[in-house]
Amino acid sequence: MIYLDHNATTAVRPSVLAAMLPLLEEQSGNPASVHGFGRTARQRLDHARRSLGTFFGVHDSLVSFTSGATEANNLAVFGIAGMRDRPGHAITSAVEHPSVLEAFGRLQQLGHEVTLLAVDGSGRVDLETLARQVRPDTFLVSIMQANNETGVLQPVTEIGHWCRERGILFHMDAVQGVGRIPWTGERLPADLVSVSAHKLGGPQGVGALIMERSLSLQPMLFGGGQERGRRAGTQNLPGIVGMGAAMQWLAEHEREEIAAMARLRDRMEEELLAGVPGLVIFAREAVRIPNTSLVGVEGIHGETLVMNLDLAGFAISSGAACASGKGEGSHVLAAMGVTEALALSAVRISIGWNTRMLELERFIQQFIHIVARLRGGTGARGS
Ligand code: PMP
Repeated sequence: MIYLDHNATTAVRPSVLAAMLPLLEEQSGNPASVHGFGRTARQRLDHARRSLGTFFGVHDSLVSFTSGATEANNLAVFGIAGMRDRPGHAITSAVEHPSVLEAFGRLQQLGHEVTLLAVDGSGRVDLETLARQVRPDTFLVSIMQANNETGVLQPVTEIGHWCRERGILFHMDAVQGVGRIPWTGERLPADLVSVSAHKLGGPQGVGALIMERSLSLQPMLFGGGQERGRRAGTQNLPGIVGMGAAMQWLAEHEREEIAAMARLRDRMEEELLAGVPGLVIFAREAVRIPNTSLVGVEGIHGETLVMNLDLAGFAISSGAACASGKGEGSHVLAAMGVTEALALSAVRISIGWNTRMLELERFIQQFIHIVARLRGGTGARGS
């Protein structure tokens, strides 16, 4: 089986596994305990926190570990909203991940007003549209760094500056950006940044919310006061240590890895375009992360293509992994103005740290072969 669904989740890197194993094999200890086991656990937690703080250029105390980016996004949205004593106005875009969109839906139920920014044909938000929607009571703007379906990058640095000048808090979901475009090492473009370990060679079930400066976010979980009171509950120490190791790996090697993924992806797109007449690569004209291709062949249902490729030994996803299986079209492509017929054909191919050229060549051959078969034979009927 060849795995090309790295935007859904990636395999754990060898260095990450090596860092995590001792914690699973031995008595790991609770970082809150006073005894030696607890002190060792605390040191490991601090070390992982330092890896993230160093990567993002912030003090360790500004890194809060969570159960993943869904929780980090929720903590950012509700944590900021909870700092207010009356309802206000918050802005996000129509192409965000459901963990932001649904949180904004809940904000609305809680009495806040919410604006969903429209995007252009490649799924980008522009500053003028944002500027037109801002109101005196706008307290939050939340825009993702890179889209999980199309890979399109948003102008987050410009948005960040713009918000900063106006004193509006800016949250950035950086889940698909970290490890996929080199981190500049400059000041964080946002006041709050969400990351997830399992998209960058770390384990599932751990993420972090990183703050550019200290904010008194209202917590969502109450209890033992862990994570400086921002997120109560005993930390997932093996997961956090794994995330720290993944970030450390990226800090040392991300440029080569990103360049390698870009070479693979670009070659794949050229070969698919040459081999599949009528193939559409969504948002190809936009600046994208270099591991992601969202493609479609009108008339062939994405789910059908995914299932046929699965039978042939290749794992890709139709539209967003989170939405697939629900039988719904992509909200991202709808916001980009793509027709429903074409949107339903969309499949996402996402390359990762362990993808090899040989595997990709086999995938390209099969893709071309299966599309030709579905077009010519019974497979396309009813799809
Ligand atoms: N944001 C984006 C852009 C994502 O792609 C994902 C994962 N599909 C998430 C948030 C949620 O991350 P997690 O799986 O860690 O909850």
